[in-house]
Amino acid sequence: STHNHDVIIIGAGAAGLMCAAQAGYRGRDVLVLDHAKQAGKKILISGGGRCNFTNMDVEPNNYLCSNPHFVKSALSRYTQWDFLGLIGKYQVAYHERDFGQLFCDDSAKEIVRILMSECEAANAKIRLRTEITAIEAIKDEQGTITQYTVTTPSHVYQCQSLVIATGGLSMPKLGATPFGYQVAEQFGLKVLPTRAGLVPVTLHQEQKEALSELSGISLPVRIEANDGTVFGADMLITHRGLSGPSILQISNYWNPGEAMSIDLLPNIDLAAELESVRQSNPNQSLKNTLSTWLPKRFVELLMSMENLVDKPIKQLQHKELDSVVAVLHSWQIKPNGTEGYRTAEVTLGGVDTDAISSKTMMCKNINGLYFVGEVLDVTGWLGGYNFQWAWASGWAAGQVC
Ligand code: FAD
Repeated sequence: STHNHDVIIIGAGAAGLMCAAQAGYRGRDVLVLDHAKQAGKKILISGGGRCNFTNMDVEPNNYLCSNPHFVKSALSRYTQWDFLGLIGKYQVAYHERDFGQLFCDDSAKEIVRILMSECEAANAKIRLRTEITAIEAIKDEQGTITQYTVTTPSHVYQCQSLVIATGGLSMPKLGATPFGYQVAEQFGLKVLPTRAGLVPVTLHQEQKEALSELSGISLPVRIEANDGTVFGADMLITHRGLSGPSILQISNYWNPGEAMSIDLLPNIDLAAELESVRQSNPNQSLKNTLSTWLPKRFVELLMSMENLVDKPIKQLQHKELDSVVAVLHSWQIKPNGTEGYRTAEVTLGGVDTDAISSKTMMCKNINGLYFVGEVLDVTGWLGGYNFQWAWASGWAAGQVC
């Protein structure tokens, strides 16, 4: 038998649940389907279990999208302050960390509780453990889509509005699938190439082995992307390569084959400092001098990797000084890849936004088909921006679907 609903949302994650509650509050009969056995799994593990649910400062330029204007409408209509309103309504305690990041004091479970409570209050139903086996459009005589059928092993559903909220490819262990991209392709939409984002990078064997002895060391660095975007935050050396917030941020901008240029001493002017040591302490060795600002083991390793000879500062020729400054202020390191979707927080690329209305998230030429959240070619920086996009895009679709 066929079950009718006004709206079917596929994906009970951040964007899908927000959309479901909004559409439900409008009086729409909403059903959310998800193959997982639990709603909002990514929310639960996010932000180390405390969910960095938004940011104090959200701007369109905190997002990567091949159409940079696309995010503006939704972000301006559902802001971080709107989400904080929900946090307040449910009296969830939260705190601010570096860079305006907002986290739950207690647990990410609070965020899932808010979304589930909102869905319940709005009378939106959620069905978990449900595989989708087919989606079809039903057209009228003019060829206009009037309904969609959604087939599962146990039921066939019909709906007027179909919202795809199945997210990206990161963390397949948590149930991520390419389902949303396949639906897009089925309906003739372009899907821009996907790759892992907000992800640690891996290094070539030799560098990896050398650096792995220092794994656990964290350094404040500054890294500039090709387009001039600059991230100043910690870099962490790991057994596999490089991680930490600065590396995760820059990974969104990095393309295979490129080198990263890392300022290892972002807070000082090394050329000036070395000149002053030459005056005040000319016999101090280069190694000991650099060790004033960086861990000694790291300095030793860097000097051997970059063939910097240790000698008293007074003996350094101008050319040698220049190369020391270059290594420290723009250390060139060429990752051989990333850790991939296994550990990535997000997926870059996805459903091309050119075919989507930025106001409603509906496909411009396909009546009743919507895409929200990470399945779209919208990727935020680290810092709560990806959830804010899920909230805002889910909210926007929820006003009209
Ligand atoms: P999701 O939340 O991924 O939801 C998609 C849903 O669709 C899932 O429930 C899934 O089960 C379901 N689904 C998928 N395929 C199918 C299918 N074939 N059939 C049925 N259902 C399907 N962002 C932040 O802003 N702050 C953070 O602190 C943060 N921390 C993160 C930590 C980790 C480890 C990870 C992996 C991500 C983190 N993110 C964070 C990113 C954030 O979780 C995502 O951007 C966000 O969840 C995307 O929301 P979404 O609703 O589009 O997709």
